Amino acid sequence: MSMTSLLSPLGTRLASRASQLKGSIIDNSTSLLASQTHDIVRFAMGAPNAELIPEKDFTRLSGMPANGRYDYAATEGVPELVDQLVEYHARHGEDIDPARVLITTGGMQGLDIAFKLFVDPGDVVIVESPTYTNGIGTALSYQAKVVEAPVDDDGLIVEKLRQLVEETGQAPKAIYTIPNFQNPSGRTLSEARRRLLLELAEEWDAFIIDDDPYGALRFDGQEVPGFLDLSPGNPRVVQVRTFSKVLAPGLRVGWMNLDPALRQLAINAKQSMDTCTNGPMQQLIADYLAEGKLDKHLDGLRSVYRERKQAMRAALASELGDDVVATDPEGGFFLWLTLRGKYAAVNTEDLFPTALKHGVAYIPGPAFSNSGTFTDALRLCFATSTPERIVTGVQRLRAALDEQIEL
Ligand code: PMP
Repeated sequence: MSMTSLLSPLGTRLASRASQLKGSIIDNSTSLLASQTHDIVRFAMGAPNAELIPEKDFTRLSGMPANGRYDYAATEGVPELVDQLVEYHARHGEDIDPARVLITTGGMQGLDIAFKLFVDPGDVVIVESPTYTNGIGTALSYQAKVVEAPVDDDGLIVEKLRQLVEETGQAPKAIYTIPNFQNPSGRTLSEARRRLLLELAEEWDAFIIDDDPYGALRFDGQEVPGFLDLSPGNPRVVQVRTFSKVLAPGLRVGWMNLDPALRQLAINAKQSMDTCTNGPMQQLIADYLAEGKLDKHLDGLRSVYRERKQAMRAALASELGDDVVATDPEGGFFLWLTLRGKYAAVNTEDLFPTALKHGVAYIPGPAFSNSGTFTDALRLCFATSTPERIVTGVQRLRAALDEQIEL
């Protein structure tokens, strides 16, 4: 199928609900009025006048200048943020067309919009197994048939997908992948497999939902080109990104990089969700980027996370030795631990209350699949704790495991 037929009229591969995503004339009037230069009496938006917003108190309390950001913002995003984001990535060799950018309320909203646009009930979505819990949850909320595909140290085993699709008897509508430092395993999809996945998506007329919150957090090894580097402008690739892991999750600001025609549908979808992303928080990030602070901050994060990952792997080796297998991520937040040897029979969901009693928390493996597999595995986030606390946590995990096998 050609790229034109993919998208027009609304494309057969889009979910049938996509034709009902009409957008909001009210919300669109925000951008329309912002672009007018002559005097207009505003009877359009249901918005309080700036004088009626307690901006002074907000500024006193938050230290943030109002900048008019307490009003509704354009659904596509605060222009300063889009400009800063494009400039920042251009400086790092990544050309992003602003017509492809949609600012979202966190990465989660990007995922919700993507599944909403592509998935009709019963449509197949291929996911990595294990994968991000909320990614599965979002696909299921649109009644996707979630098909789990195996992974190894090079990420999703793309070579096995053809056989999986034959067994399923249904071509996928979308492949949901977290290509860099995957949640939960920390693994990265190899370049050869990214290329093959692009070919298969073309063959199956499917979308690739490229969920990439951690890509900027590489602390070891070589950068792997992204799907859009390998296939610039490919309308099948919908990239979902976020400031949650590089700045702060409480900001709830993320962004999508997607084909402009799809972006228009995504804007329409977002207008039925939340009109626009939080304006003051978008402005805060735009100002932070404009000050040129992000590079130094990211350098700092990378060295902190490298040290923490090393501390966690060293603690796991000394405390748990051959009775566990841990992944060795080159970036991101997570490490995936599989129990074996004397702990092989421990169920990590059953272990959880014991671990909590010993003063350590993790996410049990079954949270990362729809089929309840990975009872012998768990996800550890090394990003949150200092190396000293990591050692304490792993010692507590060992104590919990030892108690569990005595039960
Ligand atoms: N995708 C993945 C793979 C994630 O790990 C997360 C956060 N845990 C998200 C999406 C959601 O990001 P946000 O907090 O920006 O909504």
